[in-house]
Amino acid sequence: MSSALLIRNLSQIATPIGRAGVRGVEMRRIAVLEKSVIVVRDGRIDYVGPERRTDFPITEDFDARRATAIPGFVDSHTHLPWAGFRESEFNRRLQGESYEQIAASGGGIASTVRATRAATGQQLVDNVLQRARMMARHGTTTAEAKSGYGLNLADEIKQLRAIRDADEQSPVRLVPTCLAAHDFPPEGRDPSFVAQIVDEILPAVAKEKLAQFCDAFVERGVFTREQGERVLRAGLALGLRPRLHADEFSDSGGAALAVAVGAASADHLMHISEKGIAALAKSNTVANLLPATSFFLMSQRYAPARALIDAGAIVSLSTDCNPGSSMTESMSMVMQLATLQMQMTVEESLTAGTLNGAASLGLAHETGSIEAGKRADIALIDAPNYLHLVYHFGVNLVRDVFRDGVHL
Ligand SMILES: [Zn+2]
Repeated sequence: MSSALLIRNLSQIATPIGRAGVRGVEMRRIAVLEKSVIVVRDGRIDYVGPERRTDFPITEDFDARRATAIPGFVDSHTHLPWAGFRESEFNRRLQGESYEQIAASGGGIASTVRATRAATGQQLVDNVLQRARMMARHGTTTAEAKSGYGLNLADEIKQLRAIRDADEQSPVRLVPTCLAAHDFPPEGRDPSFVAQIVDEILPAVAKEKLAQFCDAFVERGVFTREQGERVLRAGLALGLRPRLHADEFSDSGGAALAVAVGAASADHLMHISEKGIAALAKSNTVANLLPATSFFLMSQRYAPARALIDAGAIVSLSTDCNPGSSMTESMSMVMQLATLQMQMTVEESLTAGTLNGAASLGLAHETGSIEAGKRADIALIDAPNYLHLVYHFGVNLVRDVFRDGVHL
């Protein structure tokens, strides 16, 4: 028998509209419906609008108790399958040590690599699931998840298998990315690691279908533009779509590289140049901004969200959830930073945290908005309207979450 869920007694439904990424001024145009219901049939949204009789029986009647419905968040940049926290390193930063000093004493990414290599596959699955449950409690229904703390064949594969295995039980839909080019392995900064990624790691990942995307960290002191391009083109040849950590700590021409290889997203962009902004604005590469990272690293430098949107780019928002530079699963926190620190409007940040994130994952036709035909990925917030997502900050307003029509 087919299932039909009626979500009624909503204060408001607020959602971007579309089956593709939305750019520039269009990001502000969200639909706001009052006195409306959502009907879900077999996991997909069947109807959104004023209450009316359906020509099929409703099997579940859900009283939303005046909540506001928004699309489930799409967190399109996370590093979920890691082991070990870095809270003491964080505390050292608060007492004035620099990231470089901490890295020189064995901290930083290298400490997460050690802990992740030492973990079993099952431990990583458990960690991913714990974080995915936290994400779901904060309204996220789809999340990208990257490897990149293995930095060798066996441990990159272990991380990606953990994402695959966790996805079978995860409340949040997981989309895997291979980020073997996150950094050089701690045992040596040998450029031959790039060849190992291209010749061994990516082919093994593609053969086992463990990732949909391939990512690289192009940055001063990490991978050069040429090395990043080599990795991304090798991934592309194996059917892995590129994403790119670009222009985070310096302008390394990352945004232009992302556009040149047809990347799904260019991420971070705190130091993007005028040329980079113009290139992204003319492209379908999503500018994925991660303001929680600037916040957590106590940087005054945020990505130029206004310039990107005003130039016409497709802008998305993500948590960058990771133990070193952004220890949060909360997309509403990210929206609060996007509005209060990057001068995005609430409407733009809602579009960026839902539909445009879905676009960068190739899922805009399936999720990211509350529209008939899409998967019923919906968050109910305890608020009279969507503005409270930012206005009522620092608390979790999410009360109920549905993914594929299932109440989580
Ligand atoms: Zn990242």
